[in-house]
Amino acid sequence: MDGPYLLFGYALALALVLVGFRIVRRAIPELRGIRRLSIFILFGVTATFLLAARNRAPAVMSVFAGNFLLLFGPLYFYTAAAEILGVRARGLRWLAGLGFAGTAVLYWSSLIHPQIFVRLMVHSVVIGTIFAASALLLFRTQKAPLASAARASAWFAAAMAALEFTWMFYPWILRITPNFEHPDPEDAAFSYLAMLLALASVGALSWLSLCVHRGELEHVAQTDSLTGLLNRGAFEVVLRRDLQRCHRSGSTVAVMLIDLDYFKQVNDSFGHAVGDRVLRRISSALTAHTRPSDVLSRYGGEEFVVLLREAGVDDAHAAAERIRSEVQALEDLPEGVNLTASIGVAVNLPGEAPDELLGRADEALYRSKKEGRNLVTLYRSPRRGNLVSM
Ligand code: GH3
Ligand code: MG
Ligand code: MG
Repeated sequence: MDGPYLLFGYALALALVLVGFRIVRRAIPELRGIRRLSIFILFGVTATFLLAARNRAPAVMSVFAGNFLLLFGPLYFYTAAAEILGVRARGLRWLAGLGFAGTAVLYWSSLIHPQIFVRLMVHSVVIGTIFAASALLLFRTQKAPLASAARASAWFAAAMAALEFTWMFYPWILRITPNFEHPDPEDAAFSYLAMLLALASVGALSWLSLCVHRGELEHVAQTDSLTGLLNRGAFEVVLRRDLQRCHRSGSTVAVMLIDLDYFKQVNDSFGHAVGDRVLRRISSALTAHTRPSDVLSRYGGEEFVVLLREAGVDDAHAAAERIRSEVQALEDLPEGVNLTASIGVAVNLPGEAPDELLGRADEALYRSKKEGRNLVTLYRSPRRGNLVSM
């Protein structure tokens, strides 16, 4: 088999992937890690051409630059994985040092004192170590929506590392003399497998990048940008699911609608920016005074809603009263701002729809407003007029 033709075939396949990545990056510029993965491939393609041109180009260019790119390319794979996962690429300096040392040894063992086994060993150790580091990084990912893609990437990177480490021993295993210029079928199979695994690792990392991106989009779609709480749409999805669960299990949940009193005056007297700061402060106070299992949302402008799980009428009433008094007692509001909140509470009835439950809480809230504000009203039963104020 003719080495240069084989290498040319590899380079062409990789170049096609590069074109694909260019298209993907244009379509979704925010995708993390794709630029680095493109550089990894570009280094691989260039190195392949340079090494194939060994007898036709100056040795410094083909051997030195070719090996440099071959050993440093995988570092871009490693940093792409770190970038996609949003973690630090630990030990990068050590790995880069290994790459530099490897390039120097390769130059020496290619041109000054040709030794093919040393060359093989350096390739194996440097590239294998970098892929092993990448696999470790990816195996550590536990986040549920990323787990499948991270595990696939980790296994491909681990397989790549294993192949590279084995490569070092293959002249002994296969009892052949390696020859990079005119590879035996065994050589060709090894390098072909390496290319396939590299492409599979790149494909799996791209999938991981898409999962991360989708997670970010979901987060933005579900979050209120001012307070970081769930927005109304996301809250209603959670409420619907919880009510279905209650329907099956017979348990209850409570919703608490909280509306800040005379908030328009805060804006009018202190400005919109101060109003925003107050809303953020209220949201952190609500987070601090509810349980981790409760679901909090900014329901509208200066209106918040809390879903209390496994809560009966009395628990919900007590929780609402605690929140009302905490809001009234807040001390670190911008100077001159005094704030109170009116609250309406309702506990779900069997088979009740989200709209109906929220409607009853709203009715209770309306009563709190009407009766003077800074009050909690509990909607005790669906019969009209059975509202209890505190
Ligand atoms: P009430 O006691 O009857 O609830 O009186 P209120 O002034 O709180 O109610 P109203 O509905 O008249 O006004 C709500 C105000 O909330 C009006 C609006 O300027 C303010 N608001 C809504 N969203 C935001 C926001 O994102 N930032 C700021 N700063 N203000 C907001
Ligand atoms: Mg309001
Ligand atoms: Mg209000």
